[in-house]
This record gives sequence, C-alpha cells and structure tokens, in this order.
Amino acid sequence: MHALERVLRLLQDLESHLEGAADLPEPEPIARFALQRTTPHDLRLCTAIVETELELWEDSGLHVRPALHPYVAERLGAYTLDDRLIGRLLDYPDCCIEHFLQGRTHYDHDPPTTVVLTEGFVPCRATCDPARRAHLLETTDDPTPYRELERELEQALHRLGAPTYHSAYQGFYEIHRPGGPHP
Ligand SMILES: [Zn+2]
Repeated sequence: MHALERVLRLLQDLESHLEGAADLPEPEPIARFALQRTTPHDLRLCTAIVETELELWEDSGLHVRPALHPYVAERLGAYTLDDRLIGRLLDYPDCCIEHFLQGRTHYDHDPPTTVVLTEGFVPCRATCDPARRAHLLETTDDPTPYRELERELEQALHRLGAPTYHSAYQGFYEIHRPGGPHP
C-alpha cells in the first residue's frame, strides 16, 4: 500500500470511528490529533480530496505521487507531530527521514538530470533509490506531464471546495534541474 492509499484508509477509518463503528485507527497519535481538529464535515472533505488525488494520479500513469493537499496534511498533524511518525505515514524512506532530522529541510543537491519530487519531500541524495521506489522521486527529461497533472488537480479540487493555498504552498510537485535555479 502506498502513502495516498494509507492516508485514505486512515481517513475512512476515522469516519467509521466517529460513527461508532470502529476502534480508534493506528497510528493513534495521528488519529487523536485529527479527531481534535476535524468535524465530520471536514473528514468527508479530506476523504474526497485524497480520493480525487489518488484517482487523477492513477489515471495519469505518472511515477511520482502528488503531495498530500495541505488541508488534509494540516488536519493529520503533518506540520505539527513527530517527523518520524509523519514520515512513515507518508512512506518517506528512513535514510531521507534521518537526513531531514539533521536540519536539511529543503532539496539542496545538484541533480545529474531533471528530478521530479513530491512537494515537501526532502531526499537524502540527488536521486535516492528507496525514495524512487516509494513514488517520491523520478529523473526525467520532460517534467511537463507533472505540471499538467498539477493543473488538473487544482481544478478538480477547486470544484470539490478544497480551500486554495496561496503563499506557503507551492503545488503538488517540485522540479529541480541540474545547476539551475528552482523553477
Ligand atoms: Zn534516502
């Protein structure tokens, strides 16, 4: 199961828990955090957002998964809870989590070729193989399809009523080119 499926399952289990039909899902610290900050309406919107992300990404056939929408990420404590716990939920490899915990919070490698990353994920090396296998990184000559998917996602999520983020939030993907400034 990859990260978007795992997050979707967690959100669905949280909904069942609120309806009294299931125990508190694992990981408990994330489940407790989310329940303190979401109404049933928020949870349904989060579920619909992740379902849409999963569907459009699968339809695209692209290797790297989109970042979790910040509305969902905030409610699951992605910016607040323990980095290891959140990293594991999001399928970040241990090598990259350790790198991040050393204070390397942005991509600062010079890639050998154009690299596409899940927005916000920081790999331990320019091209980390476990990260590639976890659908967090790909080297490619043509990142255009990722920008197209990003536009489709923005439109679909806007139609769902997902809030738009203007400042801190860049998008669903990061594209890094050899020697160049970040686009
Ligand atoms: Zn790594």
